[in-house]
Amino acid sequence: MEKKVKYIPEKLNLANLPTPIIHCEEFSRKLGIQIDIKQDDMTGCLTSGNKIRKLEFLLADAKKQNATIVLTCGGFQSNHSRATAVAARQVGLKSLLFLRVTEHEKKVLAGNFLIDKLVGAQFEFITAEQYQNRSKLMKKKAEELKKIGENPYIIPEGGTNLIGIWGYIHMFNELVEQHKEFPYTHIYCAVGTIGTMTGLLIGRDLLDLNHVKIIGVPVCGKISHFTSKMNRLVEEFNQEFGTDLKPQNYELLDGYIGPGYSVPYKEEIDVIKDLAQSDGVILDTCYTGKTFYALVDQIKKNQFNSEKDKILFILTGGLFSLFTENIIEQFGLELN
Ligand SMILES: *Cc1c(COP(=O)(O)O)cnc(C)c1O
Repeated sequence: MEKKVKYIPEKLNLANLPTPIIHCEEFSRKLGIQIDIKQDDMTGCLTSGNKIRKLEFLLADAKKQNATIVLTCGGFQSNHSRATAVAARQVGLKSLLFLRVTEHEKKVLAGNFLIDKLVGAQFEFITAEQYQNRSKLMKKKAEELKKIGENPYIIPEGGTNLIGIWGYIHMFNELVEQHKEFPYTHIYCAVGTIGTMTGLLIGRDLLDLNHVKIIGVPVCGKISHFTSKMNRLVEEFNQEFGTDLKPQNYELLDGYIGPGYSVPYKEEIDVIKDLAQSDGVILDTCYTGKTFYALVDQIKKNQFNSEKDKILFILTGGLFSLFTENIIEQFGLELN
């Protein structure tokens, strides 16, 4: 990989790596195809999930620039904002989170937000409409902060930019090191800001493993938006790092968002319960539940060759968002 790029950005060691890969024995047997799970929900405890891999590179850059405070944004129960708030504290930086508050995601002191609070993050609560202008809002705030002597560092939504995606480019090295011979034909991941998927795609191609198909499942937005965002990121990557990559051998699956971003649906809840009871693995309702449901649905629609295909599912985290009242009630569980 090193030989193919002009340079690799610096990184901090913040995540617990490598994360384990487990075989979903019961589920694989039920569906008649090998499904393994890369447990990126174990990259840490308070910093668990996919975002810490991006933050290893982003916060290294922030430190290099002598930042004093990081600004970032997300939904009210944003995993990314929580990981940023915690990791920033761990490396001696303050954080200011722009959190979107909507009708169905009311402000409650629970889940990710509780952790944000406990590590002393600062907040700006914004509406869905204001969120459309999140980059401008963060820039404006950064200017204000400079005037009072701070040195702000802005991390975009989901940590997805040319530095952040290195987290998942780098992750492909880890995947290869975990196997003598790379066994997987398909990799499944959730898509929110498409940084994880783009990183995986670039990492794969830099390691000449182009035959492995990467399948992303958007949990919001339009496919066309994600395709152009990925194309743009790869193009910028080529320019910055002197490569000549083209997005290929991937698919973005439409139709698994359900009623909306972070709103669970019945088929999804059923799959989450089923996997928990079969293999003792718990998914979140916002990202990994929808993505795993998509995988199961595609298997049932015969989209795989059960003899030859081996699937790796990236469990990108999100557990804390389960611990909020409106999500708990979605499971329809009874106390007794
Ligand atoms: C942010 C997030 C994703 C999506 O990753 P992107 O790189 O933004 O596409 C998936 N799963 C979880 C749990 C997340 O928090």
